[in-house]
Amino acid sequence: MKPAILLIEDEAAIADTLVYALQADGFEVVWRALGQTGLAALRERHFDLVILDVGLPDGSGFELCKEIRKTSEIPLMFLTARSGEIDRVVGLEIGADDYVPKPFSPREVCARVKTILKRSRGAALPPVLFQVDAEGGRIRYRGRLLPLTRYEFGVLQVLLSQPGRIFSRNQLMDRVWGDAEAFDRTVDTHIKTLRTKLHEVDPERDPIATHRGLGYSMQLAS
Ligand code: CA
Repeated sequence: MKPAILLIEDEAAIADTLVYALQADGFEVVWRALGQTGLAALRERHFDLVILDVGLPDGSGFELCKEIRKTSEIPLMFLTARSGEIDRVVGLEIGADDYVPKPFSPREVCARVKTILKRSRGAALPPVLFQVDAEGGRIRYRGRLLPLTRYEFGVLQVLLSQPGRIFSRNQLMDRVWGDAEAFDRTVDTHIKTLRTKLHEVDPERDPIATHRGLGYSMQLAS
């Protein structure tokens, strides 16, 4: 699968050049010209890296970076027209992985993107598989925030409450759906979408085990 890059840059000429160079280097690139549309794209699907312009029409890239960092540890690289040391320091302090001042050569950007991706892939995976923020209704898997629906969150939270224990469909329905209308199939459907989302983070394993005729369990040991 090609690594996917989200480029948030309002200048079409710069964006075109970068999209072309990155695609030529084997990356899939999605381009958004505004901070808000970029943020929306990031919520819709998985990306491996974000390239973010500091000066955007609807706000500063630094602010956008802080917003992204609230929910995601995705590798992030800034592009900027200014090349002051202060910008560099600010950019790296708020969680950027790299910083490229304009004008830059697309080749240089590609090279840096590869370096960042190599580094982030080589980094040891966090020892904690899941981090549940029950109050915030959020769950991180391998350090990445999962884009969960309300019921997906519920199912995952119940399975994680007692790893290894098998929960039947009825038990899951009771605990997650309560009085709301749900059918056996509803549970299966949610397990399926959950697996897809977990798989996007780590294609190597499926921590949700199916026990035929019995139900589902969470398997945390590798
Ligand atoms: Ca700009």
